[in-house]
Amino acid sequence: MLTVYNCIVSEHDLRLVVLAAVVCGLASITAIHLLHQVRRSDASRRLMWLSIAAVATGFGIWSTHFIGMLAFSPSLPAGYDVPLTILSLVFAVAMTGIGFSIALLPRFAGAMWLGGTVVGAGIGCMHYTGMAALNVAGTIAWDPMFVVASILLGAVFAAIALPAAFGEAAARRRLAGAVLLTLAICIHHFTAMAAVAITPDSTVEPSALAVPSHWLAIGVAVGCLAILLLAGVALILDLRERRRMALEMERMRDLTDAAVEGLVLCDGETVVSVNRSFTRLLNAHPEDICGRALSSWVPDAALRQALSDTMGKAVETDLGDDQGTRVPVELIAHQITYNGRPHNVVAFRDLRDRRTAEAQIRYLAHHDPLTGLDNRASFDERLDREIRLHQRAGQKLALLCLDLDGFKDVNDIYGHAAGDQLLRDIAVAFSAIITKDCVLARLGGDEFAVIAPQVADPAQVEALAEKLLMCMRTIGHRSSAPTGSISVSIGIALYPSDSRDRTGLLSNADTALYRAKQEGKGIYRFFEPEMGVQIRERRGIEHDLRNAIDNGELSLVYQPQAQVASGTVLGFEALLRWNHPTRGSVQPSVFIPIAEQSGMILTIGEWVMRQACREAAGWLRPLTIAVNVSPLQLGSEGFVALVQGILSETGLQPERLEIEITESALIRDPNRALLALRDLKAIGINIAMDDFGTGYSSLSNLQAFPFDKIKIDRSFIQAVHTKPQAAAIVRAVLGLGRGLGLPVIAEGVETSEELRFLGLEGCAEAQGYLFGRPVPITELTSLIFGNVAASQSC
Ligand code: C2E
Ligand code: CA
Ligand code: CA
Repeated sequence: MLTVYNCIVSEHDLRLVVLAAVVCGLASITAIHLLHQVRRSDASRRLMWLSIAAVATGFGIWSTHFIGMLAFSPSLPAGYDVPLTILSLVFAVAMTGIGFSIALLPRFAGAMWLGGTVVGAGIGCMHYTGMAALNVAGTIAWDPMFVVASILLGAVFAAIALPAAFGEAAARRRLAGAVLLTLAICIHHFTAMAAVAITPDSTVEPSALAVPSHWLAIGVAVGCLAILLLAGVALILDLRERRRMALEMERMRDLTDAAVEGLVLCDGETVVSVNRSFTRLLNAHPEDICGRALSSWVPDAALRQALSDTMGKAVETDLGDDQGTRVPVELIAHQITYNGRPHNVVAFRDLRDRRTAEAQIRYLAHHDPLTGLDNRASFDERLDREIRLHQRAGQKLALLCLDLDGFKDVNDIYGHAAGDQLLRDIAVAFSAIITKDCVLARLGGDEFAVIAPQVADPAQVEALAEKLLMCMRTIGHRSSAPTGSISVSIGIALYPSDSRDRTGLLSNADTALYRAKQEGKGIYRFFEPEMGVQIRERRGIEHDLRNAIDNGELSLVYQPQAQVASGTVLGFEALLRWNHPTRGSVQPSVFIPIAEQSGMILTIGEWVMRQACREAAGWLRPLTIAVNVSPLQLGSEGFVALVQGILSETGLQPERLEIEITESALIRDPNRALLALRDLKAIGINIAMDDFGTGYSSLSNLQAFPFDKIKIDRSFIQAVHTKPQAAAIVRAVLGLGRGLGLPVIAEGVETSEELRFLGLEGCAEAQGYLFGRPVPITELTSLIFGNVAASQSC
């Protein structure tokens, strides 16, 4: 080291040394710039730029050497051998060209290092060929150690210089590369010069062909000029290229920022650039992302491999980072040429919205949106699965179908919001009752269902059904919504005894439910095989009844109501008849309950009211007409207006119309019933309490509601001579009527003994076969147009 230092300080002209270093630095910067330019250029211009780079760098190395030689001033006359000098320049240019070509070989890991080493070797070749061209009057001795050191140092520094000139932080890397290349040339040169020892020898004549030093100076000057020229050209080109690229980058960035997808430009695994959507996806700044490996966010190596193997094909994964961000994304990669080299562009499509929507759809597909319980589709799946499991395990399960009674009233009276709230509260209450292994679902409307697995004993199911019934009895305490007189009916079918498949189980549980409804509601029933036949029959009737009015199958018959004392007919009760083409005459006791349960009674009842009023309006004598009105009609919206409309439409005086209602019409919704009855009464219509004694027989009902008449049920009249209790009840009702000032009419009077009893007990009116059976009005013309007495008195 010291020797090299001494060599520089004592044997060189320091000004020229500095000049050599400057020229060398300039040449190195040019070399690195041009090398970048070669890499950037496309195939057609690559050779041209490679040649320029090789010539500029070769000249630079050569010029440095010869300025260094000029600075080296052995006090001996010296000259340079021309061919060797030219050869040294050729070496410098050629080996640099070869080195650069190797360095830029694509897909070769050590290319840069090897290329740099070749350039370093070129510096050595050039130097020693140049030294061989030196002609002095003396002998030259070489220190082999310095010779080897000079070659190695030159090669090592050049080998580091090229890889150092590429990569991130481009400007700094370029400078580092240029500095290292300068060092490679200078250190090599001065170490090599330290190896030289010249001993003056007058016997040695310098070659006549040798060019004197001043000629060399001109050569060096030309070399320097060439370097400066080439450096200038390279610089201008570089600047223009940068400006063009910056513009292009800006345009590209604007374009990519406008994209909805996150876009990531990767050089191999390293992220080079990202768009705004991607930074938003990670909630990070571009500076924190660029320069890092793609694996930081896509850790799955196999997936990354698949992504680059199947370009253009989408793969899905979770995008994650060390802060715990997890974003479901769809990735798709494309290869592009960027900066003259292949890069990957990876597009990230945010799947969060899609996943949320999918989850929502999945949830909605399996759940009832109102209560959050399983819906019918999900319930069917669960039931199928449970059946399979129980079949394998040889166990029993129970299916309970639940239907609310009186839910429609809550909806009608208090509105749908109250109905919805009640359903939600019921769902919560039921969920609290059933055990974890049971499945509760809302099948639609006011229908629920429960699967009770592993039933060892039907008593278990009974206990569950009781709990559910009890829960509904106390729902008023748990629900914030008005509950009216709501209850639940339950039908139960067992696997495998009742059916071995889902459809069969559901249908049988439904049949049992139908029976529970029929038998009084608010109860549960287990399926029994004979239920099926009855229910099919019932459904058939219901179906046919829908068309009965249109088909003209309905008609009215009229039964006289007469004074007990005189037998004078005061009016008629209109009774409905259904004459079915194949079933024949269907009893009202069969079809009226079906019409009530299906709601058809509203249309049928309106038809009856209109028929009866029209008929009565046409009678010569102003007899009364009693029409039966079902509880559903009385509670229906606009019932009073409907009756009023029919009265004005038919011209019947309101006083001639009597409405017969049973106590059950008062129980469902007393307030509503009271309002309707008051309005009817205000119009002038009479109101009779039908079937008194069979229902609640409540005195308070008689007082609270505006009745004009009490009808004692026929079951008491028919038993007055056989059952003393019946006679006692009849007496009591008659006493009650007297007390309240209400006339009493006895139904079902068939014999003159019954009539005599009633007369003795002070009953004013009677109705029954004794006065006449219910018959078509055509058979009653004498009564409505002339005679005053019914058949008994005739
Ligand atoms: P209800 O209102 O108690 O009608 C009286 C029933 O007793 C009628 O039966 C009638 O035929 C029967 N009856 C009358 N006198 C005697 C008698 O001396 N002996 C016997 N054994 N029976 C007698 P029907 O016509 O079969 O009606 C049965 C029920 O159907 C009625 O009972 C009523 O609740 C209902 N109904 C009939 N027509 C209508 C209607 O238009 N609307 C509504 N809502 N219900 C109706
Ligand atoms: Ca009646
Ligand atoms: Ca009756």
